[in-house]
Amino acid sequence: MNLAFAPLAPTIVPVTTGEGFPVRRVFCIGRNYAAHAREMGSDPDREPPFFFTKWAEVVVPSGTEISYPPETSSYHYEAELVVAIGKAGRNIAPERAHDHIFGYACGLDMTRRDLQNDAKGKGRPWDIGKNVEQSAPIGLIRPAAQCPAMDTGAITLTRNGEAKQTGDLGEMIWPVADVIAYISRFYELRPGDLIYTGTPEGVGPVTPGDTLRVHIDGLDDLTITIGAPK
Ligand code: MN
Repeated sequence: MNLAFAPLAPTIVPVTTGEGFPVRRVFCIGRNYAAHAREMGSDPDREPPFFFTKWAEVVVPSGTEISYPPETSSYHYEAELVVAIGKAGRNIAPERAHDHIFGYACGLDMTRRDLQNDAKGKGRPWDIGKNVEQSAPIGLIRPAAQCPAMDTGAITLTRNGEAKQTGDLGEMIWPVADVIAYISRFYELRPGDLIYTGTPEGVGPVTPGDTLRVHIDGLDDLTITIGAPK
């Protein structure tokens, strides 16, 4: 059968080895650092883990100039550790979770905060605030065998060279192994899946012309710039 039009090519994320990592799906964990949960008005002690998703096509590599998106006046950065899945599994036990990890990268969960807050207030889905074109920048993926344990280590974000987010991976309420175990109860995780694991406190807005840089100890920095609206 002839195709009616050419299908979208997969999003490929560069790996430090020179390989490409084809993206399948994007899962994002919410409120995974207590101080950020509090700054968003929640009580971290009473929140079970939860997640939302983004399309694979909104993932963009380091060095991209992302357009300021429409219908928002509060586009926020959230610096996050990204876990890249390399092996399928369901109902994965936390102690087996690391067998399923391909590697790690620095990421940004860019968010139309005004639309997210409006959706939250009305009890509506977060898609319009979170699943935004070019909203999931990711740095080079480093294979897990070449990474430190990634259970502690600094995670920082600078905006135009000024420190805005400063946290430590050890502050995660649900560590990487628990996050993989949790999502795999609901979906079979597959190679190509990316998991954005939540952000520390200090989120804030961007304006066109800004440069964001995310650093996580042991990984390659992620840098993006904010361009004018399309
Ligand atoms: Mn986030």
